[in-house]
Amino acid sequence: MEKFDYIVVGAGIEGSWTAYQLIRDLQKPSVLLLERFPLPHSRGSSHGQTRIIRHAYPESFHTALMPRAFREWRQLEKDAQTDLLISKPLLCVADESGYQGLDNTIARLKEEQAKSNNTISYSELTPKELTKEFPQASFSKTHRGCIEYSAGILLADKCLATVQTQFKKLGGVIKDGFVVTSIIPGEQVQVKGHHQGVEKTEMGGKVAICPGPWAKKMIEPLLGKKLPIKTLRVPVFYWKVKKGGPGAIPASFIDHGAGEFWGIPEVEYKDMIKLCSHSTSDEADPDDRDKSFAHPNHDDLTNYVRKFFPGLEDTPSIIETCMYSVTPDNVSIIDTIPGEPNIAYACGFSGTGFKKAPCVGLMLKGLLNPEGPNDDLIPMEPFSFQRFE
Ligand SMILES: Cc1cc2nc3c(=O)[nH]c(=O)nc-3n(C[C@H](O)[C@H](O)[C@H](O)COP(=O)(O)OP(=O)(O)OC[C@H]3O[C@@H](n4cnc5c(N)ncnc54)[C@H](O)[C@@H]3O)c2cc1C
Repeated sequence: MEKFDYIVVGAGIEGSWTAYQLIRDLQKPSVLLLERFPLPHSRGSSHGQTRIIRHAYPESFHTALMPRAFREWRQLEKDAQTDLLISKPLLCVADESGYQGLDNTIARLKEEQAKSNNTISYSELTPKELTKEFPQASFSKTHRGCIEYSAGILLADKCLATVQTQFKKLGGVIKDGFVVTSIIPGEQVQVKGHHQGVEKTEMGGKVAICPGPWAKKMIEPLLGKKLPIKTLRVPVFYWKVKKGGPGAIPASFIDHGAGEFWGIPEVEYKDMIKLCSHSTSDEADPDDRDKSFAHPNHDDLTNYVRKFFPGLEDTPSIIETCMYSVTPDNVSIIDTIPGEPNIAYACGFSGTGFKKAPCVGLMLKGLLNPEGPNDDLIPMEPFSFQRFE
């Protein structure tokens, strides 16, 4: 049995940033990061080559996190002397069904731009400007847009590996292949599980739980109540750019309309763009992710590609798989276990948690150390479990 000041469960992007910031920012604590699968793995939500990072959100509490998140990612690049964030414009478009979301996003960008000394920049696009700027897409006459120039693409697999490497450089310990089976609260929290077939218990003064799509299985026994989270199997589609065609759009892309489509230009595979829709996801247990999977229902997406992106082939060439954990309001839950102030958890990050992970680490560090220093504390109310009670 070993004793640590902190144990973090789950080495996805949220748990890895949390472990790293605990050891980086506090007085040399001992920190253990536990992961059930051998690393790296592709069973959770943090694998893959790219994620969008942006300030453009319809909710002010999300936009307000982003300057700090960008700073943390850029600092990590400096500390690790590597490139993790490629600056790329982000295009948001909407037809009438998505005007509300688009207008809220533009309003948030305007507010944050005023505070940011113009490091955040964007412009609005009328239907005419949209067509002129992006002739590769056949947007309709009712599509309006907004382009955020201060957005970018995070190289996701590289980001995750870099956070873990920096954590280890500062003396952090990672045990992968350690399946946590129960967490027993107390002044010293017992984290029980099996590591390479051997029963083990690790003791932690404080514990942060970041289990991604396994949240219900791990957190509900501690909460003693249901977590309002659904886990979805998300197919990720890559579409070839047609030879001799009008090409693909050069910006990352979010459509605020009814289908909620998003895409990333040719950063990963040459001549292919990633374009996906929330409507192609199915509910799935993360332990049986592909069991009931026959053929993904991607008709909506195929029709969408045919209609709006004539420069792309209309059948995806590659399909990869990821998991979403979705709450009823699409906002994550970051909180402590009632009556157990030394156990905090973060889950329900859906399709937006990667970019914000440095802020999630700061929030968990703040929850576990309410006595301060408080300069890192970010408003927690929007993320509390209480909003569902
Ligand atoms: C297709 C797709 C596209 C996305 N696009 C974006 C984007 O453009 N921008 C963005 O910001 N976000 C995006 N996201 C969301 C983002 O990737 C996720 O919100 C984020 O990765 C969630 O990280 P996590 O650490 O909570 O979960 P995970 O990465 O799943 O990590 C949880 C970890 O806990 C481990 N674990 C679970 N149970 C146990 C146990 N019993 N014992 C030990 N370890 C355990 C798991 O094995 C896993 O490694 C996207 C997600 C998907 C699926």
